[in-house]
Amino acid sequence: MRHQRVKRTKTVCTYCGVGCSFEVWTRDRHILKIEPTHGPANGISTCVKGKFAWDFINSPDRLTQPLMRQGDTFVPITWDAALDLIAEKWGKIKEEHGPDALAFIASSKCTNEESYLMQKLARQVVGTNNIDNCSRYCQTPASMGLQRTVGYGADSGSISDIEMASLVIIVGANSAESHPVLATRIKRSQKHRGQRLIVADIRKHEMAERADMFIQPNPSTDEVWLSGVAKYILDHNLAKMAFVHKWVNKFEEYAKSLEPFTLEYVEQVTGLSQDTMITLANEIAAAPTVCILWAMGVTQHCGGADTSTCISNLLLLTGNYMRPGTGAYPLRGHNNVQGASDFGSMPNIFSGYQKVDDAEIRGKFEADWGCTLPVNKGLDNREMIEAIHAGKLKAMYIKGEDTITSDSNANDVGEALRKLDFLIVQDINFSVTCEYADLILPASPSLEKDGTFVNTERRIQRLYKALEPLGESKPDWVILQMIANRLGAGWDYKHPSDVMVEVARLTPSMAGVTYERLEGFKSLQWPVAKDGTDTPLCYTEKFALPDGKATFWPLVYVPPSEEVSAKYDLHLNNGRLLEHFEQGSMTYRSPGIKEITPENFVEVSPELAAERGIATGRYVQLTSPYGRVRVQVLVSDRVKGKQLYMPLNSVAEPVNKLTGSHTDRATHTPAFKETSVEMTVL
Ligand code: SF4
Repeated sequence: MRHQRVKRTKTVCTYCGVGCSFEVWTRDRHILKIEPTHGPANGISTCVKGKFAWDFINSPDRLTQPLMRQGDTFVPITWDAALDLIAEKWGKIKEEHGPDALAFIASSKCTNEESYLMQKLARQVVGTNNIDNCSRYCQTPASMGLQRTVGYGADSGSISDIEMASLVIIVGANSAESHPVLATRIKRSQKHRGQRLIVADIRKHEMAERADMFIQPNPSTDEVWLSGVAKYILDHNLAKMAFVHKWVNKFEEYAKSLEPFTLEYVEQVTGLSQDTMITLANEIAAAPTVCILWAMGVTQHCGGADTSTCISNLLLLTGNYMRPGTGAYPLRGHNNVQGASDFGSMPNIFSGYQKVDDAEIRGKFEADWGCTLPVNKGLDNREMIEAIHAGKLKAMYIKGEDTITSDSNANDVGEALRKLDFLIVQDINFSVTCEYADLILPASPSLEKDGTFVNTERRIQRLYKALEPLGESKPDWVILQMIANRLGAGWDYKHPSDVMVEVARLTPSMAGVTYERLEGFKSLQWPVAKDGTDTPLCYTEKFALPDGKATFWPLVYVPPSEEVSAKYDLHLNNGRLLEHFEQGSMTYRSPGIKEITPENFVEVSPELAAERGIATGRYVQLTSPYGRVRVQVLVSDRVKGKQLYMPLNSVAEPVNKLTGSHTDRATHTPAFKETSVEMTVL
């Protein structure tokens, strides 16, 4: 066989929101090496996933042709037959039940252009706003907290601001494993710049061990200690009142809402001592520049949006917006969780967070797309599952998400998907959700297509095609266009850059985004003005709310929906492992990575292990009201008392068999972190 020449292609990592850029060296279908050189977010760094977890592209599990269900098995069919089947099934369901009987789940692993086309397919071609993406499972509460208080549901600055802050606070985020390169930049700042680090978490992870101050509040009580800190700062005249008077509305209401959060009350609810709270408040108030970072340890609670709001309230009170080295940083998990929402794959917005129920905005899209668009907000991911159970939703199209393993209460979600008349699953590998499909469409991963991603700091970056799609798999944007045209849409995108031209035309915050300005390692942070000026620091002259001022958002603390009981007496937390991505759909198909962590485990505290007479390696069964898993014990002092921790990166024993259907009150993000279980030693 004659080998191709070695090829170097610039791409963006597909594994987390840091958005490391690098060149991938390939020959034939082999990846020879990954070389980070000029990455705007990462410089010359990657983590173990970005460097080594790419073998999945040649996995025998790759889907290479469309598959149609026939009884309990799947048979290969042609693309033409697959498109005919979609047209027939969707046409019938739409005719009998209307367009809102169909729903779409977009992928936060796909490109921006693909997210844009997915929502266009749902809205323009099918006529429904039932479109959502995986940010609903993780980061929508953070976006809500920021939209309420400062305007944009996104990081208020850049990773370089985090690096230059005098104090970084990390709440509910295991960044050394979930955002490794970002964590490395913080570690460097600690070492070389004397940056201070405070970590608040229920689990003592690596960054907690490296912190100058580590606090371990009781589960689901971050809102209480954050409010307690704010009250102490206010009561002791430590607030930045000149900033507040100039830039923030609703101060009086906010100050009143803090009254219950006395040191005594905070100690009683959170378990944090009054001395700890005083030290914490004084350090935050005295720091010249503060950045607060948070992730799913905050958002995946019934009060996830409120706690995110609380963080932003505290930053406003201490004047930590509008300057380099300050601000709010919700850390996006998937590589394109920010972009999937930015480009409109949500039930209430078009691209650039333009609201579907705003007649003027809707009119703009109708004129451009040549159609009449649905008026009301559509269903979010959670409401879709409820609508299936209620018999209102008949068909779903899931693109690049393993919904069964990534949504909470896996057994209930599985039951719902089985009730659908027609389920399409589009993915690169045969996922767990594929088992529930009527039609499976083979897609191409990031290395096999062109496009753009948005990282956690709103940075839009280009990825280029390094390899041809495997077999008959196709880039998602190509598949979306084929479906749209089979339904009569007449789309004519020759390349993802054509999609970006349309996005820029219709989206003020992306007005100056062009492929020319993104060439190679170049990047843009939205909002991007027509002349290409981008926005590394979101707020300098005004906030993104109607009068240009931010606003405090008064809150009332509501205890968690599910607490430990006599039967389910242990609290179960979950999170990511350094080596794996999501439920391992790609990383477990990279043999070198799989070898490092072949099996899932549950961390048990030394005191609980002693009480139950168990040691590392013993198997236990964890049972919740929603399901059970069998898993191996790892005795670890990273967890304390009756708290357990289980990585979410497992298909074989997924933690979501144990999580329930309760959700964040404001956004319907599942409260994955509010789970109680009983543990039986096997
Ligand atoms: Fe960078 Fe995240 Fe990829 Fe690691 S997983 S290389 S930190 S983008």
